[in-house]
Amino acid sequence: MENIDCVVIGAGVVGLACARALAAQGREVLVLERESTFGTGISSRNSEVIHAGLYYAPGSLKARLCVEGRQLLYAFCDERAIPHARCGKLIVAARAEQADTLRQIQTRAEANGIGDLRELDRAAVAALEPALDVHAALLSPSTGIVDSHALMLALLGDAERDRAMFAFGSPVLGGHQNSNGIVLQIGGEAETALRACWVINASGLDAVAFGSRIRGMAAENLPRAWFARGVYFTLSGKVPFSRLIYPIPESGGLGVHLTLDLGGQAKFGPDVEWIETPAYDVDPARAAQFYAAIRSWWPALEDGRLVPGYAGVRPKIAGPGMPDADFRIDGPGRHGVPGLIHLFGIESPGLTAAMAIGRYVAGIVCRGK
Ligand SMILES: Cc1cc2nc3c(=O)[nH]c(=O)nc-3n(C[C@H](O)[C@H](O)[C@H](O)COP(=O)(O)OP(=O)(O)OC[C@H]3O[C@@H](n4cnc5c(N)ncnc54)[C@H](O)[C@@H]3O)c2cc1C
Repeated sequence: MENIDCVVIGAGVVGLACARALAAQGREVLVLERESTFGTGISSRNSEVIHAGLYYAPGSLKARLCVEGRQLLYAFCDERAIPHARCGKLIVAARAEQADTLRQIQTRAEANGIGDLRELDRAAVAALEPALDVHAALLSPSTGIVDSHALMLALLGDAERDRAMFAFGSPVLGGHQNSNGIVLQIGGEAETALRACWVINASGLDAVAFGSRIRGMAAENLPRAWFARGVYFTLSGKVPFSRLIYPIPESGGLGVHLTLDLGGQAKFGPDVEWIETPAYDVDPARAAQFYAAIRSWWPALEDGRLVPGYAGVRPKIAGPGMPDADFRIDGPGRHGVPGLIHLFGIESPGLTAAMAIGRYVAGIVCRGK
């Protein structure tokens, strides 16, 4: 049976960042991806926003890895000419009653080390974005957008340069621990098995299900998986905004917001819909809720301008009505299986945080626990 030092399961942005960080340390790395190419999962169905790190509980992995990941990401984009823009974002209080929530967001952001937020009153908002009709806003200048495919291609290129290997069309079916490591069963055209000293489970929406297919993983060390779909509607016609516009966050998501892509196309979303299993259909009837939500801060939005776009699914580990969960990066110190690292609940800001997550995982491997 073949022996490999580190196996990364999943070639989304997080698996690619882990592979890159491990290969840069001189480790032998094999990435196993069930699809025929990289980045076809959550990593290609998101808003492509580089988050500043405003919302997350101070000290949480989300807060720390978002801030660190954003800095690493901007530096990497500059160095590699990955298309991106530091366009900034406005978080808007549509009504005076929401002004307190804006202040709470600002306090939390400061606790997370983000000191560049600016408070804007109605007139200052109108001067920046005349189409907005809101009571007040916070401007986050360090929020931006990135071409996620170009980012993943650059991560993959670095990993390959440092001799990481990629096997596409290679679904990992399950595994078990033996005295020399973790034995993985791999499906695809020819079923095979290999033994790894380290297995990094970066399988996104499947991370919990895959965790349960590792014999020896105690069930109490696995979170419950929940799925929350978010759909997008694109805006037809001219876009009257040059920054990202976010309402006050809602339970399970950040509220229906406006993001721009690097071509200047605007989209609204994602909303939050709890579903049993991942599915990507966009119900055009949801447009009614989008019009209502958007008109609370952009009253001039005309009928007929929202066109059904695409959907993404969040890999949640906390369900409806529960407080948001932190990222879980569970190494042997947490679950007791040597050589195994699970990445659970890597929802937003996972794209922003990916390079910091890679560094964090490489740190666990380097320390051996
Ligand atoms: C609607 C939405 C909007 C978002 N917006 C943002 C945003 O603007 N900014 C931000 O920072 N973050 C955002 N995120 C979060 C971000 O997109 C994710 O955190 C990130 O893409 C997760 O990457 P991943 O590599 O963990 O998962 P994925 O990209 O899903 O990769 C997992 C890979 O594992 C593979 N796989 C699964 N099981 C197996 C197996 N058994 N064997 C082999 N391969 C397997 C899959 O095929 C897949 O390629 C958003 C998420 C959603 C859902």
